[in-house]
Amino acid sequence: MNKKHQDIIDFVRGLYQTTEFIPLHEPKFVGNEKAYVVDCIDSTFVSSVGKYVDRFELEMAKYTGAKYAVATVNGTAALHITLKLAGVNRGDEVITQSLSFVATCNAISYCGAEPVFIDVDRDTLGLSPQSLSEFLSANTTRTAEGCINKTTGRRIAAVVPMHTFGHPCRIDKIAGICEEFGIPLVEDAAESLGSYYQGKHTGTFGKLAAFSFNGNKTITTGGGGMIITDDEVLAKRAKHITTTAKKPHPYEFIHDEIGYNYRLPNINAALGCAQMECLPRILESKRVIASAYADFFATSNITFVKEPAQASANYWLNALVLEDKQARDVFLKELNEAGVMSRPIWRLMNELPMFESCQSDALVNAKWLEDRVVNIPSSARVK
Ligand SMILES: *Cc1c(COP(=O)(O)O)cnc(C)c1O
Repeated sequence: MNKKHQDIIDFVRGLYQTTEFIPLHEPKFVGNEKAYVVDCIDSTFVSSVGKYVDRFELEMAKYTGAKYAVATVNGTAALHITLKLAGVNRGDEVITQSLSFVATCNAISYCGAEPVFIDVDRDTLGLSPQSLSEFLSANTTRTAEGCINKTTGRRIAAVVPMHTFGHPCRIDKIAGICEEFGIPLVEDAAESLGSYYQGKHTGTFGKLAAFSFNGNKTITTGGGGMIITDDEVLAKRAKHITTTAKKPHPYEFIHDEIGYNYRLPNINAALGCAQMECLPRILESKRVIASAYADFFATSNITFVKEPAQASANYWLNALVLEDKQARDVFLKELNEAGVMSRPIWRLMNELPMFESCQSDALVNAKWLEDRVVNIPSSARVK
């Protein structure tokens, strides 16, 4: 065992005060979760309608500062609908980062569109405004139909940056570029609940954004997602098409378009309401942990990823940048064998079989980070 790695293992064990297996991120139910779930069961409204769904939506809107929030069954479904409502159609292209979780690209594919992969910045791990601007300037032309990719003749229907591990990308710059080229901006904010850029919550810079409440996220509803937007028409459309496109009627079944059953069950929303109450405590604890890691790694040749300038991160998953791929592989093996969970960052999306023929730029930073970034235990310490 590498001495340096033993020191890290000891440090993480000290941080979490345990000799048992340490997961990467475990959910914390330390508030009204049980009470609300029991209340929900007692009411028999466990399924697609109920007071907790409405309350969870209102609280998410209030918390993020968005005008409207619409709950969905998971984050991928939320992304699918945000893209559809942004106007992404069959045969379109959507720009995103190759360094992301596969759900971003899956949602693009559900719309019948194809991702175009642009590089990330090394410090934010998110979409690089400079690479985006260079790609659009060199490869597109603006027409009455929108921004057209000159190489493929297809319309670029949206840009989808992602706030990796809760670190906000340079979203103000990206929003400016989208404006300049006339492309709708949709934020994949699945990982960034509680993360702000220039004092504004992530997910409020574009037309629409999607959040996830999967079991490994900052707060969880078991499975769940949320769409946010400031646009009343889009919010109403989002609610309509995620709830089977049913027209309100006292007893008749009238559906006026092809809709989706993407509703968040009330019982999951009950968990969500309780988790929202705990969110400030969870975020506070995660900042304390991140700061302890930052101090620990300050004197080492391993780089701890800190929140970018002008940003406040939720530190969903703490990340390290190791020297090279070989160092990363040894790190992963030794920590996991010692029961301290560590995971590499995702494979780049353009390396997966279903996306390998998609257009991309040189992806210099994405490739560099892919070889070096790992996540380490990040659960909040709350009781
Ligand atoms: C978690 C996640 C999603 C999808 O959320 P689910 O709720 O698991 O469907 C989408 N994008 C990113 C970047 C994520 O991390």
